[in-house]
Amino acid sequence: MLRPDIVAAGRLTIDLHKLVRNYEALGARVAPARLAAVVKANAYGLGATAVAEALETAGCRTFFVAHLSEALSLRRGLADHSEVFVLNGLAPGSEALCAEMGCIPVLNSLEQVSSWNDLGLALGQTLPAAIQLDSGMVRLGLSEEDTRQVAAAPEALAGIDLRLVMSHLACADNPAAEANHRQRRRFDEMANLLPPAPRSLSNSASALGPPAPHGDLVRAGIALYGGAALRDTPNPMQPVVRLEAAIIQVRTVPDGAGVGYGLMYTTKGVRRLATVSVGYADGWPRRLGGRGAVFVGGVRAPIVGQVSMDSMTIDVTAAPETALRPGAPVELIGEHQSLEQVAADAGAIGYEILALLGPRYTRIYCEARPRDAVTGAKS
Ligand SMILES: *Cc1c(COP(=O)(O)O)cnc(C)c1O
Repeated sequence: MLRPDIVAAGRLTIDLHKLVRNYEALGARVAPARLAAVVKANAYGLGATAVAEALETAGCRTFFVAHLSEALSLRRGLADHSEVFVLNGLAPGSEALCAEMGCIPVLNSLEQVSSWNDLGLALGQTLPAAIQLDSGMVRLGLSEEDTRQVAAAPEALAGIDLRLVMSHLACADNPAAEANHRQRRRFDEMANLLPPAPRSLSNSASALGPPAPHGDLVRAGIALYGGAALRDTPNPMQPVVRLEAAIIQVRTVPDGAGVGYGLMYTTKGVRRLATVSVGYADGWPRRLGGRGAVFVGGVRAPIVGQVSMDSMTIDVTAAPETALRPGAPVELIGEHQSLEQVAADAGAIGYEILALLGPRYTRIYCEARPRDAVTGAKS
């Protein structure tokens, strides 16, 4: 049988036990608000099905994705009583499929409210939905005028079971920003125009920041996955992700040798260089060429020259020779190098590094329950 971890670009280990610990810690912090999991973009690259199933087992009942296609693939694996909300809303023409499959749209515009309402009335049902209000981010949601229009029309919500009224903060990662207070006030004023429904405004950063009213439901993504939600603050979450690749080839290179595309790097003195099985097609940022590093045998190995599509070259002169055989593991994210360090080197954010984690990695899940803490490969 093929060993997926030695035939793939790399091995992405996802610790579901730590994921659940993060869920529980954050849940305790935001109580009595309920904690929902944002599992869009394949649960930030970690694997939406495995992540959602582990969180559902831990008691999570509400999930958010961006697109209906994501909701459809998630829906099958979850219990009927779990809710899957579609943040980007109702694409024109998708209404019947969304209703039939039991997915819940976040209605972001008057058109979406009215087409969902019309479908509910035509079916003689009230169809579940969230309504998003634009409290000041200018991304998605009803304006204040739209909200007044909905509130004033008696039939506008007659076919809708309003499960949630929500908005999103533009500056939650900076709790000191005045914009947060403005958005909170505006959200309350706008939500007060609508019929009573549970409210949701907070994401990971709000959940971890100074105490703030969370309403009824907090929508957390990055903190569950161990990423840093707040700027310039120690990250209290447990790391969930470990990313390793393999050495393909090692060579000793003389002084003055050009390395990689464009020969952008030239060796100074005799160097030991290794080629590693990950490149930008795996979501490993091209910008790390010449600035980032990986760890080999616990020793920092700088990335030299340009990152290629399927490989990159690292300087392993300082690494122990025993760690340098072909097939030996190289740590990209793990105990020596945090997600945030990689993001900083790449001029990116942790969210971006996770969301780009490519399909060529073998995803290995450490099981959530400690009793059977064996690793089993699923892909
Ligand atoms: C992505 C997203 C979230 C989750 O944000 P985190 O910062 O990852 O916790 C919450 N709400 C909305 C509307 C989102 O788009």
